[in-house]
Amino acid sequence: MKESPQRRELEEVLRSSKLVAYGFMGMDTRHLSEIIDNDLAEVSRAGYTLEQLAGRMQEITDQAATRFGGWVEINENLRARVVEAKGRLVCPWPHPGRFNKRVTMVEHLKTGETISWSDLNIHMISEHGFFEGKGSAFRLEPEELFQMIF
Ligand SMILES: [Zn+2]
Repeated sequence: MKESPQRRELEEVLRSSKLVAYGFMGMDTRHLSEIIDNDLAEVSRAGYTLEQLAGRMQEITDQAATRFGGWVEINENLRARVVEAKGRLVCPWPHPGRFNKRVTMVEHLKTGETISWSDLNIHMISEHGFFEGKGSAFRLEPEELFQMIF
């Protein structure tokens, strides 16, 4: 992806802490396009698409959301719960997009590992290929995601 003035402006927004504590970029000093390209390469190398990944995340969130705040068994290895908070998160990309401020927590029953994502994470992965910068509160590592949810 090439650097355009709009993209630079978007990067400013993503780095600012106005939207979420520490912004979406965390401590990551790479350009937005580099972060997106690197993560996308990792996704492709593992043989997945962003759609598959986001689709699976959405499926888990939908299953977990059937029981308010309680753990729901997803399969023999995974359980998940959805925690709702008041308010909405706005997608930083320039298009209308507001998402419930809810977080899905997934736990691997054998390893005890956990991973969490917001509805906005799912949207940013599927629509913008953005997993957030390293060090941001909701950065998701593609590799950890695959191992957990597939
Ligand atoms: Zn968006």
